[in-house]
Amino acid sequence: MARATTVTVNLDNVLHNYRLAKSMAPEQKAVAVVKANAYGHGAVAVAKKLAPEADAFAVACIEEAVELREAGIEGQPILLLEGFFTADELDYISANNLWTGVHNQRQLNDIKNAQLSQPITVLLKMDSGMHRLGFAPEEYAAVYHELKALPQVKDVILMSHFTSADDMSSPMTQKQIEVFDAATRELDADVSIANSAATLMHADARRNWQRPGIMLYGSSPFTDNPEIDRQLKPAMTLTSEVIAIHDLEPGEAIGYSGTWVCEKPTRVGTIAVGYADGYPRQAVNGTPVIVNGQRTKIIGRVSMDMLTVDLTDIDANLGSTVELWGENLLANEVAPCCGTISYTLFSCITARVHRKYIG
Ligand SMILES: *Cc1c(COP(=O)(O)O)cnc(C)c1O
Repeated sequence: MARATTVTVNLDNVLHNYRLAKSMAPEQKAVAVVKANAYGHGAVAVAKKLAPEADAFAVACIEEAVELREAGIEGQPILLLEGFFTADELDYISANNLWTGVHNQRQLNDIKNAQLSQPITVLLKMDSGMHRLGFAPEEYAAVYHELKALPQVKDVILMSHFTSADDMSSPMTQKQIEVFDAATRELDADVSIANSAATLMHADARRNWQRPGIMLYGSSPFTDNPEIDRQLKPAMTLTSEVIAIHDLEPGEAIGYSGTWVCEKPTRVGTIAVGYADGYPRQAVNGTPVIVNGQRTKIIGRVSMDMLTVDLTDIDANLGSTVELWGENLLANEVAPCCGTISYTLFSCITARVHRKYIG
């Protein structure tokens, strides 16, 4: 009775993936990164599922933390990865057990000048090579001691972020670890440096607080590690259905600008999903899809509400189910055909798509 385009999120799989992250360093803690609406999976639903086990949650900004607290997620700290954007956020941070990143002098001054109901926990960010946020290694220890001395500060956790942990051939991760360790040698504090890729594959990056994100959603940060693919369980499946079928003659072109011209008699299926649902318009001819359990490919350009697939050798009818990515077709296989990564596929699903939760 409605447009079939649906995202199904398997929360049991998210829990499985969180446990996998945790198992990489069982004596340590794992912060479940649920920023950007849990990478499009639904932050409240994911956080509720993980709440009995998660050591902490992480989000990008206070609005995302407020959403979780108002939904009743109260049992653990919520870490603001980029810290606060304006000083007036500090009252809420202090009153609601949020942990804030501190990456620049302005944030440091704001904390110094704040009158807080309770002292706060701070994650002090080092720029160990990403050159996006953080204090330089040379100034890091001094800032640490300054923060530790403030009555507004309860605790300081040492934090940094990797540029290339998903690339096992890059020397960058090791370099960043060396820079970080050298600059923090004298500091007696907890450490948080590992994202999913480092949690999975860089044992010496596993410290007190891992920060797994993408792996929670069952997508590997690595493109060529079948063993990790085997261990992760995809959480999001995007499905739709066949809404039209046409038999075309050789020479006929499909869709906007006719980017696919049939070379032989071709059966074309029209699927009710397009870029306004979050399926990338950049998807090239040949991008895999699954129709009625069989693999086939996109032919013709993705339009706003629809796309077209080759049904020539496929057993399919009007109403046949189509999987765009998910449990049977890894987002990591689709993403490169769209010039992107699974992170964007997941987080760009739009509000129009129906949502269903399992588990
Ligand atoms: C998003 C983010 C993470 C999680 O990264 P994944 O690659 O998704 O595991 C960890 N740390 C910081 C600072 C982040 O911004």
